[in-house]
Amino acid sequence: MFRMSLSQVISRSVRQAAVRSFSSQAAVPNGYNFQLSETQREMQELARKFTREEIIPVAAEHDRTGKFPWEIVKKAWGLGLMNGHIPQHCGGLECGIFDGCMVAEELAYGCTGIKTAMEGSGLGQMPVIIAGTKEQQKKYLGRLIDEPLLAAYCVTEPGAGSDVSAIKTRAEKKGNEWVINGTKMWITNGGVANWYFVLARTNPDPKAPTSKAFTGFIVERDTPGLTPGRKEMNMGQRASDTRMITFEDVRVPQENVLLGEGQGFKIAMGAFDKTRPPVASGAVGLAQRALDEATKYALERKTFGKPIAEHQAVAFLLADMAIGIETARLAWMKAAWAVDNGQRNTFLASIAKCYAADVANKCATDAVQIFGGCGFNTEYPVEKLMRDAKIYQIYEGTAQIQRMIISRALLSEAQQGGK
Ligand SMILES: Cc1cc2nc3c(=O)[nH]c(=O)nc-3n(C[C@H](O)[C@H](O)[C@H](O)COP(=O)(O)OP(=O)(O)OC[C@H]3O[C@@H](n4cnc5c(N)ncnc54)[C@H](O)[C@@H]3O)c2cc1C
Repeated sequence: MFRMSLSQVISRSVRQAAVRSFSSQAAVPNGYNFQLSETQREMQELARKFTREEIIPVAAEHDRTGKFPWEIVKKAWGLGLMNGHIPQHCGGLECGIFDGCMVAEELAYGCTGIKTAMEGSGLGQMPVIIAGTKEQQKKYLGRLIDEPLLAAYCVTEPGAGSDVSAIKTRAEKKGNEWVINGTKMWITNGGVANWYFVLARTNPDPKAPTSKAFTGFIVERDTPGLTPGRKEMNMGQRASDTRMITFEDVRVPQENVLLGEGQGFKIAMGAFDKTRPPVASGAVGLAQRALDEATKYALERKTFGKPIAEHQAVAFLLADMAIGIETARLAWMKAAWAVDNGQRNTFLASIAKCYAADVANKCATDAVQIFGGCGFNTEYPVEKLMRDAKIYQIYEGTAQIQRMIISRALLSEAQQGGK
């Protein structure tokens, strides 16, 4: 049983903060501070308990069958563990990115496939959060607060992933409507979402600048002409739902355009500043699980008369895993803190996403190594972690694309004379 939902935790803490501010004992932390507030500790504890009781027991089954985790999504929704970033005027909690990352790390510890199913909705929502009008937000984000529904983010196509400006889906203005034609690929929540953020080319001139050639739309799932394909069978994160989606003369009203014609590329890319930190924290959750499983096994398994943890080669693998996890966690924390404090964080978000993805892959691979033959077997938990980890180096910008963003930013700063 769960004593309190996230909204109850937060409203109690707001009341307590008001009392403290009258008692003039409020401690305002200055400078660097690695301490969670009481509310954050309670949020973390709620997510941890939910993971332990609701996700871990069913994760292997969802991985085996690929069944979408609707039951878990509904329970998480009921406890406020989803949709944390939705603004208060739509009925949401309007939590910061840091808090969302903290929850995502806990959920990912249980199963990153299930966590991606939940987080994919956050990615779909983010363009509406950063660029939607109050009316668009109330209608589409408010709907996700009223009912356990999901959103999806449709940008990638069969012919264009890293090179977003090469997408071919087109939208043409006809009267007060737009007509969308094209195909999107690898869309998380593609078959289960209630509505989609869709990026389409609206300026047919191939010489039009990227910053003006694309428009972002909110598209209802039940619009005629919109057809999700079959669920893709992926290497890992099999609980999440990845599909192709075709758009054949899909008519969208003008009121569903985000920010205005030609603003789509900026919105689609801008969303990543807020969604890459939670992807990074998810990768850290997976890495932490790999370390915990490997540590337990290394203390139990004996070779040459002693637990394998006492062989220095194995102990050092565990130490390297811990080094990666601690530092990747700090990376998502800084990226999230920066954006929550109104600072431009594209560089930090890419560092966090890139590094945490690499750490997750190394930790999962080393955990399999520590398990020996058992690591290669589906009866043990770590082979799933290794399969699940790989996608962190691919989705929301590949490892190479993150390094391009990071290197471009540092070179541009150097060319402008440094800090
Ligand atoms: C499970 C899953 C879920 C996904 N969910 C979504 C979603 O919800 N919404 C969505 O829009 N998309 C989604 N994607 C798509 C994902 O973001 C893309 O797959 C990813 O961006 C890479 O694009 P691509 O697959 O076309 O690879 P490509 O762009 O073809 O890249 C192939 C390889 O070339 C490298 N490469 C490409 N360009 C360069 C360069 N300039 N320099 C160096 N190396 C380069 C890449 O890093 C990669 O290693 C998902 C993908 C998967 C597999």
